[in-house]
Amino acid sequence: MPSANRDQGTYDTADYQAADGRHHLHPFTDFKSLRSRGTRVITRAQGIYLWDSEGHKMLDAMAGLWCVNLGYGREELAQAAYTQMQALPYYNSFFQTTTQPAIKLAEKLAEVSPESLNHAFFTGSGSESNDTIIRMVRRYWQLLEQPQKTVIISRNNAYHGSTVAATSLGGMRYMHDQNSLAIEDFVHIDQPYWFGEGGGRPVEAFGLAVAQQLESKILELGVNRVAAFIAEPVQGAGGVIIPPASYWPEIQRICDHYGILLIADEVICGFGRLGAWFGSDHFGIRPDLMTIAKGLSSGYLPIGGVLVGDRVAGVLIDQGGEFAHGFTYSGHPTTAAVALKNLEILQREQIIETVAAQTAPYLEAAWGKLGEHPLVGEARSLGLLGAIELVKDKQSRIRFDDKGSAGALCRDICFDNGLVMRAVGDTMVISPPLVITTAEIDELVEKASRCLDKTLAAINDGKLSD
Ligand SMILES: *Cc1c(COP(=O)(O)O)cnc(C)c1O
Repeated sequence: MPSANRDQGTYDTADYQAADGRHHLHPFTDFKSLRSRGTRVITRAQGIYLWDSEGHKMLDAMAGLWCVNLGYGREELAQAAYTQMQALPYYNSFFQTTTQPAIKLAEKLAEVSPESLNHAFFTGSGSESNDTIIRMVRRYWQLLEQPQKTVIISRNNAYHGSTVAATSLGGMRYMHDQNSLAIEDFVHIDQPYWFGEGGGRPVEAFGLAVAQQLESKILELGVNRVAAFIAEPVQGAGGVIIPPASYWPEIQRICDHYGILLIADEVICGFGRLGAWFGSDHFGIRPDLMTIAKGLSSGYLPIGGVLVGDRVAGVLIDQGGEFAHGFTYSGHPTTAAVALKNLEILQREQIIETVAAQTAPYLEAAWGKLGEHPLVGEARSLGLLGAIELVKDKQSRIRFDDKGSAGALCRDICFDNGLVMRAVGDTMVISPPLVITTAEIDELVEKASRCLDKTLAAINDGKLSD
């Protein structure tokens, strides 16, 4: 049904909100409650700041959804898309054709990624990339005449995307509960979440014990059944969960020992987020396959991919015949041209080096101070990822009874006070653009601190049920 305002061509914020409520179903959203509250309509952005349709300015401490790593308003990226669209807006890579941007992007990815990752398979998103990996891993073992190796071990509270396969692969219970754990042979072990699940054990002993669950699970299932292990170097959507130092070396040892494939989902950690090109570089992980998306194009256009190591690529190429998989937009020339330009800017402006040497240590010190706030049980960061745990009682680290309510309250207060910070339950998380300056970090932390004060005041005023 057309709305009256659309015919006139003029919308004010209320018109947008009404039309949105009538016609638009948002991702990961309670449709009914959003409809009654109305959405915030974002209209423009520059650097690390956003503006909504009412003219409110906000510091985007989430870089969109963990992706706008170069910040907003990069003319060069717009120009790369424009130039490519004029020359060749679209062509595919099926049936023995390809395009120049897809070739150059694959070459650039081989240059910047860890040594053994020399091939790229392109997709349109992180979810599609993980679907691709599932098919690739199973095909690999089939070609090696071990077709019974189908199980992929993942972790509780992991996020690997939202397609049917990626949901099953991930460990988000509330997603599985919506009748979506549809695919068999994905099993989940515990996450290395010391603050939430460490139960007072020493951090490194906890990290080691959780990693060793991988070994127990392999032995329980039988190594002849296990194809691969997948994990994010640092969990993002799960609440910026930074593993203890003991965790990744033990995971690597176990994968090596049993010969199972190691998959690093680098959709968030990739392209500089931790102050290295990849989370795998930071932690010394040697993955056989890598999932990439988000920061690959700084979110300017949708593109994802799988970086394939020599071990898997060798088998697929030499023994595989046709790999019966691909997407219309695999290697899309315009998205590839933008991603390539994005990587060139990362290199030219030495953005990752600046994160490592300057802004990440600066954030760590400033953000860490938030740990002193009475509402905060822990403040942690790594690279330009940060989290704070909201607690009812600081000493005992007891959480609020109505899980997630304090986080939602804090998030709303942040929004109203010009700061975009996301709530994962009662964990507040940040992932600012990699170009954030130290002065902007001061502003971010100062705003966050003021919003924590306001959240505490609101809680003391009885704004939460408990
Ligand atoms: C966002 C994300 C995905 C899914 O990417 P989409 O582009 O939303 O499909 C997969 N893995 C991780 C670690 C992510 O953060």
